[in-house]
Amino acid sequence: MSLAPEVATVIDRAVDSNLAELASLSGRIHANPELRFEEHKACAWLTEFLAARGHTVERNVAGLPTAFRARAGKGSPRVAILAEYDALPGVGHACGHNLIATGAIGAFVAAAQVVGSTGGEVVLLGTPAEEGGGGKITMIDAGVFADVDAAMMFHPFDRDLLAHTALASLWLTFDFKGKPSHAAIAPHAGKSALTACLDTFRLVDGQRVHFRDGVRVHGYVTNGGQAVNIIPERAACEFSVRALDGVELARVRGIVERCARGAALASDVEVSIGVRQGYKDMVNNMALARRFGAHTGALGRPARERDDRIGAGSTDMGDVSHVVPSIHPWLAIVDEGEALCHERRFAEAAGAPSGLSTALVAAKAMARTAVDYLADAELRAAVSAEWTARAR
Ligand SMILES: [Zn+2]
Repeated sequence: MSLAPEVATVIDRAVDSNLAELASLSGRIHANPELRFEEHKACAWLTEFLAARGHTVERNVAGLPTAFRARAGKGSPRVAILAEYDALPGVGHACGHNLIATGAIGAFVAAAQVVGSTGGEVVLLGTPAEEGGGGKITMIDAGVFADVDAAMMFHPFDRDLLAHTALASLWLTFDFKGKPSHAAIAPHAGKSALTACLDTFRLVDGQRVHFRDGVRVHGYVTNGGQAVNIIPERAACEFSVRALDGVELARVRGIVERCARGAALASDVEVSIGVRQGYKDMVNNMALARRFGAHTGALGRPARERDDRIGAGSTDMGDVSHVVPSIHPWLAIVDEGEALCHERRFAEAAGAPSGLSTALVAAKAMARTAVDYLADAELRAAVSAEWTARAR
């Protein structure tokens, strides 16, 4: 049983009544891009907005200075709405996280107005450093999601999708150590670390025929040698490895490491291998995603369930989705095919009226979905059944 129309009206009005302040918040965050774990201004503005509306805000959640939490309602069930607000180096808010923050905080203050009548609690989580810092993983490890029953956020995109793939990921670094010699006087006396480094790329390329669908392996040279007339003693590269799930990720990681060792063997140099865990794949809870979709549809934004024609990235929301039933729907801020995340045109759209209006739709749809989750035992049962049955 979905939300009563009068409750939806209260939620929508609550979002609209905060329109000027939400626009200001989104604009300020957009104009002041802050990198991972340095989102001090964004965090201050968001928590001030909450405090001004009577909400108690916990700072330094999970020991992260730019994480925060606010609660509305009481007891269980508990549904979390997640905000992101970090930017990218060089291209600012080209992932539109200012809109994610605006949508989330708009949803929270609207849901807070009706949560007293449903029972249960809506939790707003400010989650730093999605871009490479994995703030949500630190928050999971600190137990922030231990009392949460379901989690949601939205992400700007070039199309409206209820669910999309996010790839499991990790980073590999290879440091090669050879033997320097004069590249003209005594080339025979050296062992080139750079040759091994470059051979790693060639060997990885040769293995691509064995990758399953969805695998991405992309790298760059981080150290190409010391001088043109020295056989390079040191060389290094870094690879990002991604796959549809953790099993394929581990398999491909093994292949890439084998290529580096094989390249080192061929050049008779040493290689040391570093691994940094990335993010888990996204498990989309479709029962909850479809309810979100019913609300975006009612708000004039009917969304497709999925679209596998478009590529996928990685997000620490994937890690959350392995801990609690989660959704990470995508809503367009540009025309389909016009631009994608991490492009300059996308950053422009994130600061434009089209971006803001999408964040407001997201705020209303997330607030409605969150309140639905608290009020609708059938929906909760469907979400739980899907969670229990998931094949992992
Ligand atoms: Zn993003």
